Amino acid sequence: MSARILVVDDVPANVKLLEARLSAEYFDVMTASNGTEALAICARAECDIILLDVMMPDMDGFEVCRRLKSDPTTHHIPVVMVTALDSPADRNRGLEAGADDFLTKPVSDIVLIARVRSLTRLKMMTDELRMRAITSLEIGMQAPERTAVADTGKGGRILLVDDRQSSYERLASLLAAEHTVDVEPNPTEALFHAAEGNYDLLIVSLDLNNFDGLRLCSQARSLERTRHVPILAIAEAENSTRLLRGLEIGVNDYLLRPIDKTELLARARTQIRRRRYTDHLRDNVQNSIEMAITDALTGLHNRRYMESHLATLAEQASTRGKPLALMILDIDYFKSINDNYGHDAGDDVLREFAVRVRKSIRGIDLACRYGGEEFVIVMPETDLHVAGMVAERLRRSIAGEPFAVHKGTKRIEVTISIGLTTLEQKGEAVGDVLKRADTALYRAKHDGRNRVVSQAA
Ligand code: GH3
Ligand code: MG
Ligand code: MG
Repeated sequence: MSARILVVDDVPANVKLLEARLSAEYFDVMTASNGTEALAICARAECDIILLDVMMPDMDGFEVCRRLKSDPTTHHIPVVMVTALDSPADRNRGLEAGADDFLTKPVSDIVLIARVRSLTRLKMMTDELRMRAITSLEIGMQAPERTAVADTGKGGRILLVDDRQSSYERLASLLAAEHTVDVEPNPTEALFHAAEGNYDLLIVSLDLNNFDGLRLCSQARSLERTRHVPILAIAEAENSTRLLRGLEIGVNDYLLRPIDKTELLARARTQIRRRRYTDHLRDNVQNSIEMAITDALTGLHNRRYMESHLATLAEQASTRGKPLALMILDIDYFKSINDNYGHDAGDDVLREFAVRVRKSIRGIDLACRYGGEEFVIVMPETDLHVAGMVAERLRRSIAGEPFAVHKGTKRIEVTISIGLTTLEQKGEAVGDVLKRADTALYRAKHDGRNRVVSQAA
């Protein structure tokens, strides 16, 4: 994992210093001496993390950061402000501009590397998600980047884990200005609470009585339900080695006591915004996976999914010595439905057909749209006799009740023909099973349609 770090500073000596330290840790380092140059490098997507000097002539670091964070193509690149001034006012200006973190000059080596490593992990994870979500962009879904840039980061759900009453009361009241906050004073309950609560952010005190806050952070990272929830740690200033350890195990950000209100709110917003963005990406990935295996018109599985999954089902049936039934269903004279009532009416019939199919089969049966008005149903652990009864029930559910089309203003009679067969006991090729079902279907059509024809293996 060799991240590309962009170091931006107008003083060549500062650039050289950071470059040397980062290169020694095997990071790829790029440099820029002003904001314009830095923006151009980011626009070409050539870097993973930016270390950005604040005081620069022409365009200062705050402005560079603001531009990066308001551009959908660069907003996800973590920005670390490197500043000579360390006043809360300064930090807050940077956080308002969207900075992810701060390093104060002279920069401590250990803090620098811990920060860069932790942001690298985050960036790699986001990139992976972005890449997978591109597919869904290509099929016309809303771009998560647009939403992310517009997100204020407010209105989050926060779980605060802190056992000191004076501390959690103050923190909770500060956070309540922008978020919904639950307080968990009992660290042994915290993990359960976090897993159940669907939170956008966990804030964990590392100064708990008789309990290691870092252990809680690490458990939250390994638990499926909390794995992606960002963690903001809070610690006394003298606890800084533990904070670095925290960054290593996946704490996303930290604050030192005494807590400054503006900084607390700004850091919470940054984490929540990022959390929503990656969640959105993850949803898109999930949706595109579903789209890739689903037929858009009927919501049944598509042919591609059926073909890959049928092979698995057939193999399972053979090794377990169980029967497997397969039927092909074809709507009779479907072309004439289109011709007489229009293509939209044809689509209505296909949708309603899918609804009736779903009602007639079990959850473990696999139903898919195989072609235009041709469907395949695969039934595990079902022999020819039982499958024949299911097919007959299906045929009746279609022929027995006319189909409503044109928003219910018209009803038309529809019938189907079904060809049915089962897998041969010992490892038959699925292509042969499909062929046999198709032959049976052909006979059903030939013999007058609206009927089921079974063909034993
Ligand atoms: P048969 O009883 O022999 O099956 O006759 P048929 O008319 O059903 O069969 P044919 O294969 O001749 O026609 C199928 C028609 O299905 C032709 C095609 O235009 C139509 N079709 C395919 N996909 C869709 C679709 O998504 N929507 C609609 N409305 N029609 C479709
Ligand atoms: Mg047909
Ligand atoms: Mg056909």
